[in-house]
Amino acid sequence: MGSLKLPDPTMSKQVALLGYPVRHSISPAFQQAAFDFLKLDVRYEPWEVEPARLREAVERLRGLEMLGANVTIPHKETVLPLLDSLDPLAERIGAVNTIVNHGGRLSGHNTDAEGMVTALRREGGFDPSGKAALLLGAGGVARAAGFALLGAGVASLGILNRTLERAEALAVSLREKAAGAIPVTALPWQRDSLLQALQAADLLVNCTSVGMKHGPDQGRSPLPARVLRPGSLVYDLVYNPARTPLLEEAQRAGARGLGGLPMLVYQGAAAFELWTGEKAPLPVMMQAARKALP
Ligand code: NAP
Repeated sequence: MGSLKLPDPTMSKQVALLGYPVRHSISPAFQQAAFDFLKLDVRYEPWEVEPARLREAVERLRGLEMLGANVTIPHKETVLPLLDSLDPLAERIGAVNTIVNHGGRLSGHNTDAEGMVTALRREGGFDPSGKAALLLGAGGVARAAGFALLGAGVASLGILNRTLERAEALAVSLREKAAGAIPVTALPWQRDSLLQALQAADLLVNCTSVGMKHGPDQGRSPLPARVLRPGSLVYDLVYNPARTPLLEEAQRAGARGLGGLPMLVYQGAAAFELWTGEKAPLPVMMQAARKALP
């Protein structure tokens, strides 16, 4: 990887965060801490971009001063046709969370998948290879998590979602990736299938937004302690609050818990490396992220 090359050393650079809304994001706090720590003259700026103005915002990313962007809800999927190229993983997942500006040409990447599994291994001490995994949810982050877990060699993958059709659609694309080697099953969110799947799972990954601060289901857990398997790992991708209602239930059930903050930082670190070519200062980013969570 080459290091950061500025065509004009007097020109400061920018990275944008495209989302709507973006005001609660903690990415600016830990990305800016990383740029500052490495003394790179780069500003990381949240851009509040309404869906109707996404094209215009993406055009601005082609400017000389722009290194690229992060992309968050609700633009991760709709941004794809506005870019010049996609890396194979982003194309397969169908979602982009990182854009790199190569002198006016924009490439799209997905670092959520890598961040999800790196955090699981390093912070959760869990190697998914050969394990039974269960996803709760079938939205954008569930897609990235599903691809990541298949890539990491899980033995089986179940998908439980409130809207069964969405779980089925995700299972179809994941089965293509699994190519018959790993069973991928969509399950209805009903008592019996839920209990059976949970009791068989070594790893449960919450990919729903239930429990997320500022969201409609703030303060709620998607599942109660009594259905969680003692000794399993409950990985909640919700990162705000750091200690989610589901993690409380996991502790009550005698399960291990891992929150979503490390994934957020690892996906951000991978994005940082794509923009700058520099090694991301992970401890600095992790500390700044923890500090930024209210
Ligand atoms: P999304 O595409 O909108 O998907 C939301 C999912 O949550 C869907 O499966 C939806 O089910 C389910 N859901 C919502 N409300 C529910 C409820 N009351 N009961 C049951 N299921 C419910 O969102 P996303 O982009 O995948 O993000 C999901 C969560 O992951 C967010 O909280 C986000 O902050 C977190 N996330 C974390 C990271 C990280 O780095 N840690 C990265 C990305 C996202 P239906 O299909 O039935 O609507």
